[in-house]
Amino acid sequence: MNIEFTSAELAFQQQIRQFLNEKLPVDIAEKRKAGLYLGKEDQVRWQKILYKQGWSAPNWPVEHGGTGWTPTEKYIWATECALAGGPEVISFGLKMVAPIIYGHGSEEQKQRFLPDILASNAWWCQGYSEANAGSDLASLKTTAAQEGDEYIVNGAKTWTTLGQHADWIFCLVRTGAPEVKNQEAISFLLIDMKTSGITVSPIITLDGKPEVNEVFFDNVRVPVTNRIGEEGKGWTYAKTLLTHERTNIARVGLSKQRFARAKQLAKETVDLDGYLIDNPAFSQKMAEVEIELLALEYTELRTLSAVSTGAAPGPESSILKIKGTEVSQMIDELLVEIAGNYALPFVKEQFEDGFAGEHIGPETAANSAPYYFNNRKASIYGGSNEIQKNIICKAVLGL
Ligand SMILES: Cc1cc2nc3c(=O)[nH]c(=O)nc-3n(C[C@H](O)[C@H](O)[C@H](O)COP(=O)(O)OP(=O)(O)OC[C@H]3O[C@@H](n4cnc5c(N)ncnc54)[C@H](O)[C@@H]3O)c2cc1C
Repeated sequence: MNIEFTSAELAFQQQIRQFLNEKLPVDIAEKRKAGLYLGKEDQVRWQKILYKQGWSAPNWPVEHGGTGWTPTEKYIWATECALAGGPEVISFGLKMVAPIIYGHGSEEQKQRFLPDILASNAWWCQGYSEANAGSDLASLKTTAAQEGDEYIVNGAKTWTTLGQHADWIFCLVRTGAPEVKNQEAISFLLIDMKTSGITVSPIITLDGKPEVNEVFFDNVRVPVTNRIGEEGKGWTYAKTLLTHERTNIARVGLSKQRFARAKQLAKETVDLDGYLIDNPAFSQKMAEVEIELLALEYTELRTLSAVSTGAAPGPESSILKIKGTEVSQMIDELLVEIAGNYALPFVKEQFEDGFAGEHIGPETAANSAPYYFNNRKASIYGGSNEIQKNIICKAVLGL
């Protein structure tokens, strides 16, 4: 096992750094580094810069617009990008639905949808979870009944991230009769969000932001040609997606960038007897997080080393997901502690889609508690950490 970068990989790293230095907009990088929110406009602007460079979809096959990078090059890209303050691309189009379309869609679907996803002309959201179907997703209840060359969709999806911006939603729906086994009754539909009968309703999270939504379907007519692959095979397609995106699952680059910020802030923050960084109790906490982060980085590099010598990716992604979210949430705690009584903005105005705060200290400090609350999500979505532990028990420990 070799976890050192080769000379070619080091040259690639330089190329990436140069690109980020020249092309990453300073205002976006500053917001990202300060832990502030990025709007749709910022996100799309950055993704279009990547598109122009040919780098918007490193995980796609080259024939559809991918970069052809090795797993290690993808890791270098993700890490350098995060360290420079570059946002990760929004995953729903580029990382989630696109692999299903190029993997299982018809030629017509590939030509119709992939170019707009690659160029970030279309914003997608994910319609899997329902009120009583999260970890046990196969028990979902949204139905799609065929009538001629259309499906009539009825039901509701929940926790739909950024659905308020979406042009399209990819949904798992039940097409089979009630007696058909759940996993064999599910189909995969692409639904235009402008279709009559769709209502999007925001769910305001603890950070006061309308990031997630409920999406209601009331007799929504969807052409049968918008179904991916065969009827009743949606579950199989959805499962293949879970094995697709293995790079950057631990988000080491982002955690390194946020930890470096915490360290810098601790050096500048006045404590009772000097600066916070010199407080033995606080510096011990920082050291513990730094050790965890380093261990995470090396675990990811070891996994990459195995994959690049031809080993099939295994359940390591579950380990990386758990440790990655734990480290990220430990950094949230450090940042809240550093901000102290400036950590929460005062709620100033209440709107239907959230609330606006006023900060008495620095804006970055005022965002640390909202970020902390928001980032609790990381151990829930994408397969909760408890579910990942179940996978490790079965696949690694053989229990
Ligand atoms: C901020 C946020 C954004 C999201 N965005 C999206 C999105 O865009 N699209 C989408 O479709 N979904 C989205 N989700 C939904 C997410 O995938 C689900 O919340 C997740 O799968 C958990 O399902 P649940 O909320 O129904 O919790 P439940 O499945 O009811 O779980 C509740 C608790 O029980 C534990 N648990 C459940 N089953 C087991 C088990 N077998 N063994 C051990 N413990 C178990 C879970 O770990 C959890 O702690 C989002 C969720 C959040 C919080």
